[in-house]
Amino acid sequence: MKCTNENKSIRCSVEQCRHHCTTNFCTLDTVSIGTHEPNPTEPKCVDCNSFEKK
Ligand code: SF4
Repeated sequence: MKCTNENKSIRCSVEQCRHHCTTNFCTLDTVSIGTHEPNPTEPKCVDCNSFEKK
């Protein structure tokens, strides 16, 4: 389904998230980013905590 409320400031490729837009943007106004590691050193160490399963 094509979305009309993509946020061009937040690129995201996580298709499994309910906030994902097929144009590879997020549809939320803001997102919360966090980490699951005590000492993050690279991108895979951080998470989008606004993720919600479709
Ligand atoms: S909430 Fe996070 S994971 Fe979901 S589409 Fe937006 S940026 Fe991507």
